Formats: sequence, structure tokens, C-alpha cells
Amino acid sequence: MKLSYAAAHAASLADPAAFWLRQARELAWHTPPTQGLNRDADGADRWFADGRLNTSYLCLDAQVAAGRGPQAALIYDSPVTNTQRTYSYAELLDHTARLAGGLRELGVEAGDRVLIYMPNVPEAVMAMLACARLGAVHSVVFGGFAPPELAVRIDDARPRVLICAAGGMEFDRVIPYKPLVEQALALATHPPAHVVVWQREFVQAEMRPGRDVNFNDLLRAAPVAAVPVAATHPLYILYTSGTTGRPKGVVRDHGGHAVALRYSMAALYDLAPGDVIFTGSDIGWAVGSSYIVYGPLLRGCTTVLFEGKPVRTPDAGTFWRMVEEHRIKVLYTAPTAIRAIKKEDPDGLLARKYDLSSLRHLFLAGERCDPATFAWAGALLGVPVVDHWWQTESGWPMLATLVGLAEMPPPRAGSAGFPVPGYDVCILDEAGQPVPAGTTGLVAVRLPLPPGCFPALWQDADRFRAYHDVYPGYYLSGDGGYRDADGYCYLMGRVDDVINVAGHRLSTGELEEILAAHPAVAECAVLGLADELRGQVPAGLVVLKDGQTIAEPALEQELVAAVRARIGALACFRQVLVVARLPKTRSGKILRKTLRQLADGEPFALPATIDDPLILDEIRAGLARRGLGQGFAPSC
Ligand code: AMP
Repeated sequence: MKLSYAAAHAASLADPAAFWLRQARELAWHTPPTQGLNRDADGADRWFADGRLNTSYLCLDAQVAAGRGPQAALIYDSPVTNTQRTYSYAELLDHTARLAGGLRELGVEAGDRVLIYMPNVPEAVMAMLACARLGAVHSVVFGGFAPPELAVRIDDARPRVLICAAGGMEFDRVIPYKPLVEQALALATHPPAHVVVWQREFVQAEMRPGRDVNFNDLLRAAPVAAVPVAATHPLYILYTSGTTGRPKGVVRDHGGHAVALRYSMAALYDLAPGDVIFTGSDIGWAVGSSYIVYGPLLRGCTTVLFEGKPVRTPDAGTFWRMVEEHRIKVLYTAPTAIRAIKKEDPDGLLARKYDLSSLRHLFLAGERCDPATFAWAGALLGVPVVDHWWQTESGWPMLATLVGLAEMPPPRAGSAGFPVPGYDVCILDEAGQPVPAGTTGLVAVRLPLPPGCFPALWQDADRFRAYHDVYPGYYLSGDGGYRDADGYCYLMGRVDDVINVAGHRLSTGELEEILAAHPAVAECAVLGLADELRGQVPAGLVVLKDGQTIAEPALEQELVAAVRARIGALACFRQVLVVARLPKTRSGKILRKTLRQLADGEPFALPATIDDPLILDEIRAGLARRGLGQGFAPSC
């Protein structure tokens, strides 16, 4: 019998250690934990400190031992390369154990870092699991990042080995990865000893003798057993944008992560062993890591790994085709993907071509799901649409409609649902006091955070502490929102200098650094403009240095190219407006919120602290001249 949501949530807060130790018993530990929660020297809550386990073992060996050897573990569906391949648990275990053996021959041991720069291909999943098997710490970097971003991550993680694909396929365009890797290695101060290259039929990378190794050669090594590690041992580092140009290395551990994800597969997604989940994300993002790779395998499910796009590979029916072909029960993606499908197939004609009867739920995350998308998807698919909220830091959802629990209030348009067991989600005012229902405030979580949440930022204790220092006793999410009288929570966007472009976090500070480096630019502000397809797109307001006469279109072209070279196309940076001055407070702080409201055509009160209100009129006129803002920023 299913537990009620209210009972589960109450029990998780009343005695977190007992609640999660009970969940921990569901896993095959090498040494089961007796301790629930300890606080470490950096003030972080560490789960299951005296337990020992290995995540790769839980995802593969334990599943085979439970009789799932012949069952499909992973279905690779790649319309861009016209390939489909299924790996059983036994096959995935064999490949992973051999790859781990090969990596060990290259000197990779427990605690060493391995950077993975690959598209959504089975070899990337094997690489992640092979690292975990050795107790090595992987860091998957999204393949869309440009070489300088890759170099920053190399220098922060200092990997012993970098594993890359020779290339990826974007629609029908080949993107060679190896030249990007070479550029990043030339920029990095701590390059790895070895580069492992997975060659592809449509793109072959040049190999540098002595340093480069062929992925397939590693697969010929003798298989190795999983190395039991402490529950607190790092499993991976995943970089995400903060408010500065330097990315944050979110660390995840073996024990808490495994317990939380296994729990979430049942309680949040109502998935049993053998069920099929398709998560339309990239393994380089938190959603992909948790719900393409680890969550499904920890639960003995079948995961669909998709190398393609929601549209144009070959059409906007590709998700629906996969539902029919693979009998997908849960489809999980970002609202931007659904909006892209809706744009190309507004009447949902392509969906009607397929048998969608296996589908039970559509889950959405990465950005707020707007009510129009919620309604469109619900009507099209005839299944509940569940918006749920989380962050790279948490590693799994904090607010949701838990369809695997009983007596759960149904989803409501615009809301991300209710606090997930383990999370005491609070809405605080600026003084750190809880606000009444209906009042917007800062979304925070009362400590301790449950298992699975980040216990550290990689070698950055100061920035880690900053999450907890503002309001002692709380984790501050950086998002604003409110709770209604019925307890439903609503997220209203970031309250800091982070914007969300198609579900990806970008730091306005980092973008501003790039614009400010241009010789003609005196100062600048980057704002996220509302965008129909991507949620937000960045635009730059730029003040020229005295005496500079460069024309706006020329400057725009140069700045757009600079952002593309530094961050990558995923930034979607296309718009630059030259302005005479930026609106600031008397203390010199740029009034970003006001700028954003102005650009989006939202009503706003003139800030009392503004030094010169007339600037706003000038900017409004400038935006109108360029057709920017007012919610009609053109999509890139
Ligand atoms: P990331 O760490 O890249 O997953 O980005 C996390 C951020 O995305 C959050 O802080 C939110 O601003 C936003 N986000 C993710 N999911 C949702 C959601 N369901 N509703 C509203 N915002 C979301």
C-alpha cells in the first residue's frame, strides 16, 4: 500500500535520520550505515558516514544479481545518426567493467578526476559508470560549451584523464569535438595526462601518440570489480553557473545520492523495475545525470538515451515516436522542448500518428512551466503534466507532485507543487522570517538538506558556505516564489544575477565580463528578456567609452561572436543595445530588476534610490527602436 504524501513528508521532517536510514535499507551496501546524519567541518550535513557502497555496483551488478541481466538497461535512440541500440544490464555491466579496467591501466584510481566531454551516447554513460566503479570522480561537461569554458573546468577539476567523442551531430551538421578539446588543453594550466577518444563513423579525430588512447582499446581490458567507497566519497562534480564568471563545481556523494534517487524513482515518478523512462535532457546537465543515468539504473528501470532534438530530427513527432516504439511510461523534459514542439505542430497532428497508451505522466523541470504549455501538453497527451522544481545543487526535486504517493493533491497550472519529503521549503522575507501564504519571498529550505543534495562545492568552501550564511539554518535557493493558501508553491524566477535560457543557467556577470572586455565598451549590463520559446534570452546594454564611434550593428556582431567563442552557442546571445548611461542606485549598483521589468513591459515602481530616472525613458525608447523587450524579443 502506498504511503500518503502528508504522512511521508511529516515523517521525513520529524526524524530525518530514521526516515532516510529506512530508505537506505533498500540498497545493496557493502557496509550498511548505522549513522544517518553528521555535520562536517565545513558545516555541511553528511549522510550515512559509516556506510560503504559503490554506485556503479548498485546500478549494474546489483541489478544483474536481482535477475535483471537480460532486461534492457539502456536504449540508445539517435535519429541524427540513424542508430538504435539496446544494452541489457549484463551487457552494460560488461562494457563498464572493462572500461574501468582500461582506465585503471591509465592510472585512474579512487579520488582521481576524469572529465567527460561527449554527446548523449552509450559510451558516455559507460564512462560515468566506469569512473564510479573505480571510485574516481567524473565531471561531465556539456558538449555545447566552447573551449574556454572547458578549460576553466579542466583547471578546476584537474582531471587525470579526459574522455571525449570525436564529435557530435547537430541536426545534420557534424561538430568535431577533438579540435575544441585541443584548444581547451592549450588554454588549460592543468591538462590531463591522457585523452581517451571515442571515434565515430562520421568523424575521426586525429590522435596524438603517447597521450591519446582509443576508447575501444580500453574496452578490451579485463573487467574489474567495483571498489567499495565511503558513502561520503565524491561520485561526481557537475559545474553550474553562479553569479560570477567562475562556475561552481557541485559535488555529489555516492551514498546520499543513491538513496535519494532510488527513493525519487518510486515516490516522485511511480516507476518500478522494468518500467521505461525517457528523459529528454543532456548527460551534461543535472537532469540528465540524475534521470537519464543514475536514477533509472538504481531502480532497475530501462532508460532511453536520446541523441537528437525535440524538433527537426526529423520532425516534431520524434518524442511521440519514441513513446510508441519503446513503450515509455514517463517522459521527462523541459518546458522549452514542449514549446518548440508546439511551435512546429500547434495542433498536435504528429502526436496522433502514434500509440501513446504506455505514457502515464509528463514531467517538466528546468524552468517554470507556463500555464499555456501546461494546458497544451495535458490536452494533447491526455496524461497529467507535472511541473517540478529543483537545482543542480539539490540533485533531485525539491517541489513536486509525488505521483507515487497516495492522497497527493493534483498538479495545478503554474505551480511546481508541494515540498518533497526531506525538504522543509520555506518562503522568507528579506529579514529571514517566514512570510504568510500569498506573499512572494525568497525560496529557502530549512536545514538539514536530505540525502542527494550537494555536500560541498569542489574545493570552494567559501562559496559553499555562502548558501547557508545569509539566513543561518537555511539553504537559500536564489529563486523567488510564494505558497498559496492551499499549500501549492509557485516559482517566480531568480532573485540574483542568474538567468535561465531554455532551462540552462547563465550568469549575467560572466556575460558582462565578456562584453566589458571589448575595447570600445565602458560598462554594460546583461539582462534576461522574456522569450516565448526559451523562457529568457540574454541581451546586452552597453555604454561606449568616450570618443568611441563604432556603430551599433558592428559592435553587436563583435560581441555576439565573443560570447559564442567564450561560452558557446547555448548562450543564445544575439542582441546588443548601445545606451548613453545605465540606471543605477546612488551607491552605484545597476538596477537590474527595474531594467528587466522595463524590458518585459511589466509595471514597476520607480526605485527610490535611482540616481537619474530619465535614463529609463531613454532605454525604453532604445529598446522600442530595436523591437526588443515587451515580451516580444525575437527567438534565436
Ligand atoms: P539548474 O541548476 O541548471 O538545474 O537550474 C536551476 C534553476 O532553474 C532554479 O534555480 C530555477 O531558477 C530554475 N528552475 C528549475 N526548475 C524549475 C521549475 N520547475 N520552475 C521554476 N524554475 C525552475
